[in-house]
Amino acid sequence: AQYGADGSAAKLAGLITDVTEAKVRELELTRSQTHLRAAIDSSAGGFYGVDTNGVTTVCNNAFLKMLGFEKTEDAVGKKLHDVIHHTHPDGRHYPKEECPIYQAAQTGKSGHVVDELFFRLDGTSFPVEYWVLPLIYEGKIQGAVTTFIDITERKATELALKTAKDEAERANELKSAFLANMSHEIRTPLGAMMGFADLMRDPGISPTERASFIDVMIRNGESLSVIINDILDLSKVEAGHLTLEFSDFSPAAICAEVVSLLQVTAKDKDLVIEFEIEPSAPILITSDPTRVRQILLNLVGNAIKFTQFGSVKLRGYGCKNHDGHDAFCFEVTDTGIGIAADQLPRMFEMFVQADGSMTRRFGGTGLGLALSRRLARAMGGDVTIERTVEGVGTTFLARIEDQPTKRNSSSSVPREKDMSLLAVDERALEGLRILVVDDAPDNQQLIWRYLTKQGAIVESAENGLVGYRTALAGRFDIVLMDIQMPVMDGYSATAKLRENRYLKPIIALTAHAMTDVKNKALNVGYTDHLPKPINPRQLVSTILRHTRNLSQ
Ligand code: ADP
Repeated sequence: AQYGADGSAAKLAGLITDVTEAKVRELELTRSQTHLRAAIDSSAGGFYGVDTNGVTTVCNNAFLKMLGFEKTEDAVGKKLHDVIHHTHPDGRHYPKEECPIYQAAQTGKSGHVVDELFFRLDGTSFPVEYWVLPLIYEGKIQGAVTTFIDITERKATELALKTAKDEAERANELKSAFLANMSHEIRTPLGAMMGFADLMRDPGISPTERASFIDVMIRNGESLSVIINDILDLSKVEAGHLTLEFSDFSPAAICAEVVSLLQVTAKDKDLVIEFEIEPSAPILITSDPTRVRQILLNLVGNAIKFTQFGSVKLRGYGCKNHDGHDAFCFEVTDTGIGIAADQLPRMFEMFVQADGSMTRRFGGTGLGLALSRRLARAMGGDVTIERTVEGVGTTFLARIEDQPTKRNSSSSVPREKDMSLLAVDERALEGLRILVVDDAPDNQQLIWRYLTKQGAIVESAENGLVGYRTALAGRFDIVLMDIQMPVMDGYSATAKLRENRYLKPIIALTAHAMTDVKNKALNVGYTDHLPKPINPRQLVSTILRHTRNLSQ
């Protein structure tokens, strides 16, 4: 400004700046800061910042809550390493210089860390994922901020998924091992049967050799049947289709029977089998004697198999079930190889063997224990391992509940197995006219031989349709009809015969020994069912039973 002589202002020069814009910008900045602040505060993730000295400048509510602080002042103004305690997942603590948040504030390096533990004030911890950003303003590092989330749930889900995946993989491995093992166990007897059958072609073999070859073939055929029956039984139990036949029986008699059956095997190995029934043991109990025998055969059989020297002892005594009911305990103790502790928890799983290696010393399928336990449980009992010491021996316990209320709750049909033991006269089928419908020529021939040997007059048909026509056209006393056949299967042929008022007995012959197949067969009009491989005695006694019934 210039002033006149009187001191008044003569000229005035000035600079007017319009500050509206700056004011507006400042307001906007404040507003966006407010928004930002609100966003940070309402965020479910933790937010935290430090300056270059590592002193806390900011934190949000989620941060306070997650770490257990009451108010902002408890954290802001405090040193970083007094506020956030964090460790590597392996529990190792960070030296201060290595802390990613501190590093970002010092060096401007950003970071992202997954799966680290943050500690709350009370000392407990939780896993986090966090991101670190340096704050750089006008080219200078001002500090750093971090945002983090609690990943407890995510880790739990990941763990559950991993566990499920591991289990699926293990089940898959078991299945493959089982298949490999099964095919080995099935091929071995099959190979022996085929090999010895081939040897029999030689016209030069002596009658003694021939007889011993036949013995080998039959023995191997029987062991094949055992494997297959075990698998069938297991799948029946698994599917809840197992039918138990309750009756009163003497547990001591079963023990004696099992011991005498296995005596030969034990003798071959120079083992002593002893058995002892305590005087207090009940004389009779009600359960399924066939299944009890099956369990004992398996446990005592295993005891012999896994013992090289010493003895196998079977002891019977009265005991209580887990719910206080009366039960009978069968205790099988051996002086064998024992079971390693790490194998114990899995011993009753299907297909599991303690020694699963290719060079394992003992044959078997790993089905016996799984089946025994499931059978015992189905009868209100259990099979458990009482004691086992590697190299010293093992004690298995089979507990069978006495279930008198279930007495005679079995079906009235005699057991197939028992029927096969009925004495069959020579030429028992003399003069009977039998139609055999089976598509497999070998089976046709085998059955033809069994039946004609007993004096029957046999005709064959190679599928359901031919069988249906032959049955209607001829005068047969009984029809044996396979189920699975080309052109027309046994179900349809039988149903059609029944529709045409065909009244003669029709017996299903099938390799499917499953209960549902049996039930379906009976539903479509079959009279009875015989499982393959055909047991000749059972075949003859079944035919007799049904043809005699008709003539009565
Ligand atoms: P398998 O005998 O056909 O292998 P099991 O289910 O009967 O099948 O038995 C499973 C596994 O349990 C056997 O392979 C063996 O490793 C172990 N085991 C069973 N009984 C005994 C025993 N008395 N002593 C030692 N190991 C046994």
